[in-house]
Amino acid sequence: MKRLFLPLAIGATLLGGIPLGANPATAADPDQLLKNTESKVIEWRRHLHQNPELGNREFETAKYIEQHLKALGIQVETGVAHTGVIGLLKGGKPGPTVALRADMDALPVTEQMDLPFASKVKTTYQGKDVGVMHACGHDTHVAMLMGAAEVLAGMRDELAGNVLFIFQPAEEGAPDGEEGGAELMLKEGLFKKYKPDVAFGQHVTSTLPVGVIGYRSGPLMASSDEFRITVDGRQTHGSRPWGGVDPITAAAQIVLGTQTIVSRQIDITKEPAVVSFGKIDGGVRNNIIPDSVFMNGTIRNFDMDNRQQIFAKLKTTAELIAESAGAKAKVEIIEGYPVTVNNPALTDKVIPVMKAVAGDKNVIVVPKITGAEDFSYFANEVPGFYYFLGVTPKSKDPATAASNHSPRFYVDESALKVGTEAITQLTLDYMANNPKN
Ligand SMILES: [Zn+2]
Ligand SMILES: [Zn+2]
Repeated sequence: MKRLFLPLAIGATLLGGIPLGANPATAADPDQLLKNTESKVIEWRRHLHQNPELGNREFETAKYIEQHLKALGIQVETGVAHTGVIGLLKGGKPGPTVALRADMDALPVTEQMDLPFASKVKTTYQGKDVGVMHACGHDTHVAMLMGAAEVLAGMRDELAGNVLFIFQPAEEGAPDGEEGGAELMLKEGLFKKYKPDVAFGQHVTSTLPVGVIGYRSGPLMASSDEFRITVDGRQTHGSRPWGGVDPITAAAQIVLGTQTIVSRQIDITKEPAVVSFGKIDGGVRNNIIPDSVFMNGTIRNFDMDNRQQIFAKLKTTAELIAESAGAKAKVEIIEGYPVTVNNPALTDKVIPVMKAVAGDKNVIVVPKITGAEDFSYFANEVPGFYYFLGVTPKSKDPATAASNHSPRFYVDESALKVGTEAITQLTLDYMANNPKN
């Protein structure tokens, strides 16, 4: 699809008679405008891909974005939540403020793709020498949002509302001991200051073919919380367990007892949930029963009430099982990203827009994802819509293509046009349907 702006059936209220850019020569040819942006978006993406930076360290990425927004005459704020860049495009007419979010950070992954713009960047991460790669595709998110900024800035006089461009650091998590990401942006007062009415975000994925948009109304991605359990017993000789308190058998019982939380104690018809142990650490040799055992795991939910219940039941299960053995369990929950929920009313409204951009058959409902995403914080504040954009080439099977976070993650760049157009159209459509004086 070459069409940059909505078909009249959807966008008539906004688009009737609107010049499509500051330059009338460009305005006359939306196909050409899209085509120009398309090649620039690919160029920006390659630059970013070659120069990836880890979370809260996106210094050059931020400068690159800042320069672009300033050149477009967009009001810019930098240094938000460390390295975040905020752009505010004020439309010529009153209307809502639409927030568009792109995450900026790369991952400690050494790229294995043989591309002319492959990353050769190296750094140290948690004391280890690592490569740095945009293995989650956040380079494409930034480039597509820069593209949308260019198109929307070109039609600012006719824009019925404002666009808040959020270039967010550290989606993959801040370095140890630091805060970051969407949560920190909000804590610093981002939404209080700019008061957006709605938030949109997109993520590229290897699991869908190029150009396909995957969405889901309601809960889309899980909350992600860490738990730590320390079981304290009393050390003794392995031959004389009665001489102490064995934290290992108590820990084993806690692991098994915990399996009944999701399977027996939570109303699982509401939403699925996962409780997984990822680490058990205790003891030094075969004939010493140790003083304590440490266990570590993750909790995933799609329902915030279930989430609270699981926290409480995990605590009770661990503490009382330990107590029955004469040991003591301490449970610590480290809350991570909340559930990413797509506002159902908003989702219903935007799907026709997505279909107009990507084609009817290319907009599909995807299953829930037990991974997490900090766009959830924004979508907890205002109605939000977050969707996936397929980037796996037609010649490959998305089921087996190297996934996001793989050193062989590959983006078919023809998807970028679809993503740029989608966020642009979401903005225009929202402004057209939600007038505000
Ligand atoms: Zn990621
Ligand atoms: Zn990501």
